[in-house]
Amino acid sequence: MNYFQESCKYMPGGVNSPVRAFGSVGGEPVFVDRAKGSKIYDVNGKEYIDYVCSWGPMILGHTDEDVLKAIKDAAEKGASFGAPTVNELNMAKLITEMVPSVEMVRLVSSGTEALMSAIRLARAYTKRDTIVKFEGCYHGHSDSLLVKAGSGLLTFNQPSSPGVPEDFAKHTLIAQYNDIDSVKALFKENKDKIACVLVEPAAGNMGLVLPERGFLESLKNLCAEEGALLLFDEVITGFRMSSGGAQKYYGIQPDLTTMGKIIGGGLPVGAYGARKEIMDLISPVGAVYQAGTLSGNPLATAAGLATLKKLNQPGFYEALKAKSDILWDGFKGNCEKLGLKYAFNSVESLGCMFFTEGEVKSFAQAIKSDTKKYASFFHAMLKRGVNLAPAQFECMFVSAAHTEEDLAKTIAAHYDSLKEIG
Ligand code: PMP
Repeated sequence: MNYFQESCKYMPGGVNSPVRAFGSVGGEPVFVDRAKGSKIYDVNGKEYIDYVCSWGPMILGHTDEDVLKAIKDAAEKGASFGAPTVNELNMAKLITEMVPSVEMVRLVSSGTEALMSAIRLARAYTKRDTIVKFEGCYHGHSDSLLVKAGSGLLTFNQPSSPGVPEDFAKHTLIAQYNDIDSVKALFKENKDKIACVLVEPAAGNMGLVLPERGFLESLKNLCAEEGALLLFDEVITGFRMSSGGAQKYYGIQPDLTTMGKIIGGGLPVGAYGARKEIMDLISPVGAVYQAGTLSGNPLATAAGLATLKKLNQPGFYEALKAKSDILWDGFKGNCEKLGLKYAFNSVESLGCMFFTEGEVKSFAQAIKSDTKKYASFFHAMLKRGVNLAPAQFECMFVSAAHTEEDLAKTIAAHYDSLKEIG
């Protein structure tokens, strides 16, 4: 059976999340049967070295023995109770210990939900309605945030979505990443109206665009001066760039933090947190309502705790960085050998090669990438058993399970693929 064509009869585009459909790279998506360590296996048994890692959560690699055991043990006790559990306490404690700016946290079931809730909280706290986001940043698919967004919306060249009432979208203002003057201008034009500025502290949904020196700090100062909250969306960067996310890595503390992906160890999860004074507005202590049948789900907290425990082992991030650097250096070396001048951005275990020359420090530079060339590159890599994101405007994720052999094979495949596509 052709699973994809059959799926298209029953699900829009045959998928449950748009970018999975290979829409921008063409061809039919790989149907995954199982995964182990750094590898995924399709329904025909073909093996791929995986750098999608479920779009970030699988920092330990797939089906890590300890995470698997934690999930199995939790499942034996019951999948969901709708009542408090000790692991929620353990998870909340651990997050507050690890993430510098977070004193209290609320667990939810996806990154989208975390952002949607955090914005409500920012609006309630500041008693203001307007929010500022950056073009090309993606913060989930809630109405207010599907305005000039990155990830799949950028891939499909449709940065905003029909179905979002103009009355909602008008409260979302757009600034340019790494351009503090664009934010200043919005504050000037909207005096005392802006509740919060949302930012991916390293932007991972327009490829990978890193903050220039001083950018995040200036945002922090500006928000403080203007009485707005600064929200770091750490759904990708949290527990990936360091044990305390990008805020620990860059040494900048936001007012609000959203998290997801890694803290669920591959199960559905999200979280938002802040200092106590802000979190005290959330129901049942405060009046800002937010709830969830499966929030703090026992399987997700078990998987997340088992994952975070391993990240806290001494040397984890150093080893992951060393591994990632082998890959990034290998890619850059290949480009030099082939006389190609493609832009390459990386930080720790996140990386992205753009099919455009020169630096990529802004949205405008990122979208200069030749997406057709990326599509050819993607398929050339896939053919050689390397699974990358099926879109240019995403990151590569390295996991602790990638072996030196995987890295060497990937670097060789990268060279051969670039040579093949010319
Ligand atoms: N924020 C960022 C930075 C993300 O990358 C994503 C998803 N990739 C989200 C929010 C939304 O998370 P979810 O897909 O879990 O709803």
